Amino acid sequence: MSARRITDRIWLVGSGTDPQAGTDPHDCHAYLLDGGTEAALVDCGTGLAHERLLANIEDTGCLDRLTTILVTHYHADHAGGAAALRAATGAEVRAAPEAVTALAAADEYTTQVAAARTAGIYPADYRLPGCADARPITGGTVLRVGGATVEVHDAPGHCDGHLCLLADIGGERALFSGDAVFAEGRVSIQPIPDCRPHAYARTCRALAELAPDALLPGHGAMAPTGGARHLDQARDHFARLTVPPNLGA
Ligand SMILES: [Zn+2]
Repeated sequence: MSARRITDRIWLVGSGTDPQAGTDPHDCHAYLLDGGTEAALVDCGTGLAHERLLANIEDTGCLDRLTTILVTHYHADHAGGAAALRAATGAEVRAAPEAVTALAAADEYTTQVAAARTAGIYPADYRLPGCADARPITGGTVLRVGGATVEVHDAPGHCDGHLCLLADIGGERALFSGDAVFAEGRVSIQPIPDCRPHAYARTCRALAELAPDALLPGHGAMAPTGGARHLDQARDHFARLTVPPNLGA
């Protein structure tokens, strides 16, 4: 098991599917952004294999410089590892206000962990680990991670409090899209109370404007180059008042 380099300054350090960087089958893709003097983790996996994730971060040489843990949204496959990784590294956890509140309360209803467990998506004994001291970020916030900047974009639709993160390092722009948009313009619409197709369409329109070089989603294929094309596909589907294909469909 080892980290997998995706671009010059970005590594895959956790995944449910990647043969090299895989951590736990229930985990999303977790990325490490190397900003030089500082580094940031984007998404945390479930926490079921946080030690493997830490080992992968160590493998990048960035563990001692990890200052920030960014969480795209409060679903457990992205946010469940936040508490353990914060405890192990001291890095600060940043997420949308909705996610900060839900994680502080280990709220398994708002985050749909209870429903997902019943559906067999998570092991029967899995519980969402609470994270008491995450700090809120919202659209328009610009964070510095060493020599990189990370622009925060509100991206509701898949769930409330979903953020997408646009990193710029040396002019190379990568969009961490969480569960908002995947390769080939796929989306993730689920029958849950805070999945909102109309907001999803607006989100996809706004994300396409960003035209990043790399599209790095929370699941499935990654696009280290030509990322904009995938965002255009999702935008164009919604513009025709049709729903883009779902992830895994
Ligand atoms: Zn999700």
